[in-house]
Amino acid sequence: MTEPAAAAPIAIAPLALQGLSSTAFAALCKARGFRGAGAARDVYRGAMLEGVFDPERVGLGPEACRAYREQFDLPLPEIVHVLESDGKRGRTSKLSLRLADGLEIECVRIPMGRERFSLCVSTQVGCKMGCTFCETGRMGLLRQLSATEIVSQLLVVRHRLGLSVKNVVFMGMGEPLDNVDGLLGALAVLNDPGGLAINQEHLTVCTVGRVDGIGRLGDAGYKRLNLSISLNAANDTLRSQLMPVNRRTPLADLHDALVAYRPRRNFALGVHYCLMPGLNDAREDARDVARFCDGLGRVLVQLIPYNPGNAPLTRAPEEEEIERFIGWLREDGLPVRRRITKGRDVMAACGQLGNVELRRSR
Ligand code: SF4
Repeated sequence: MTEPAAAAPIAIAPLALQGLSSTAFAALCKARGFRGAGAARDVYRGAMLEGVFDPERVGLGPEACRAYREQFDLPLPEIVHVLESDGKRGRTSKLSLRLADGLEIECVRIPMGRERFSLCVSTQVGCKMGCTFCETGRMGLLRQLSATEIVSQLLVVRHRLGLSVKNVVFMGMGEPLDNVDGLLGALAVLNDPGGLAINQEHLTVCTVGRVDGIGRLGDAGYKRLNLSISLNAANDTLRSQLMPVNRRTPLADLHDALVAYRPRRNFALGVHYCLMPGLNDAREDARDVARFCDGLGRVLVQLIPYNPGNAPLTRAPEEEEIERFIGWLREDGLPVRRRITKGRDVMAACGQLGNVELRRSR
């Protein structure tokens, strides 16, 4: 009888720190027999706040450092390129990042005035929602991003490029509520007081209306998180043409889900409306928006002038068309803010992520 061959040792890949909250990291360190909760806390904070995974720096001995390095790391995506565009409020920077499997995603740092910047992060490689006005929608869904890959976008901008970011908006490539696990994992890390500590007021999730995801986000109990919906049409016929999600989830169902999602009394729902001349800019379209918003509590309509991409549905609206539509919305009692177009020349504006090279790399 021959002896059974000894099993080859299974190599366990190190865990990415930026996919873990500080408490999850501390619990893993404890479970794996690492000594010193203070050292674990300092290692984690160094990684998140300075982008450096360096156990030596916190005074650990060589053995302990080796153990940390065997079990954890801080892998960040490679920066493929950064495109920049200067505007009145500051510089917009669009980053293309290469993930470990070679796929690429984009994120955009957007100036908000007074030296504050928002980072618009991706949650998926591509997207399956198929919104007709969106470049990403034309890629289809290649895969979900993990919480690690979502948080990494912020770490790259802050620590590889050395740029500040105040707000994080989940409005890049992909539908965040089609990747609820990745989204919730990322929110836990971004909002973690033991690490990045970004207040919920500075985090915004934007959805096309995945009602199942809205329910799960509500259940997660973030009371001060911002939520926006990408509405773009408030009658079912037109919205179903522009946004296929509406065929499965008509406006009445979306309305119900939004009524049920009220995390706090003073919550204001963001209602994004991309104005597309000849498609959704008639007087009746504005009335439809007001009807839809009725019963939703406080709302703020964000009017976004359409950005023609590589296969435009229509042209960009003229100034007077934008002002006229805003006037109608206000006449109908809605508070409206106009979104200043930023980064159109580098395809970094709304609906323009997922460029030709990315589609080709698919
Ligand atoms: S607008 Fe958002 S949800 Fe729609 S296709 Fe584009 S990325 Fe997907």
